[in-house]
Amino acid sequence: MSFDQFGVISFTSATKTEKFVELLQDNRLSGTVCKSCGAKFFPPRSDCSFCLSDEMDWFGIDGPGELISYTTAMYAPAGFEKDVPYSLGVAEFPEGVKVFGRLDKSIPDDQLKAGLKVKVKVVSSGEGRVSYELSAA
Ligand SMILES: [Zn+2]
Repeated sequence: MSFDQFGVISFTSATKTEKFVELLQDNRLSGTVCKSCGAKFFPPRSDCSFCLSDEMDWFGIDGPGELISYTTAMYAPAGFEKDVPYSLGVAEFPEGVKVFGRLDKSIPDDQLKAGLKVKVKVVSSGEGRVSYELSAA
């Protein structure tokens, strides 16, 4: 399983954080934590931007998190035209990271608001691709 299996369209086929996709297939959204200084990263980094260590561990992002902000796209970039309208949001998780992602379309529009409790939902396309969304907790 490599990084080109991630998302609807993958712009990157190889990274030092390919394990992210394996963990996601195991139903676990994950970030990295620096073994040296404890800094946490999402999206995962293979090198710490604070102390420059390359000794990293993985940690699961289970939540529930809290939606900080969101927007609804009425116009989409190439490859996502059939999906509009869809909403994207940023949520703060108790594990210490913020997660940006698409919001589950099953969340009613009138429930979309800052403060909404959200959890991670792993989404498989059935074509061997895997991604995640934020759904109502
Ligand atoms: Zn560090």
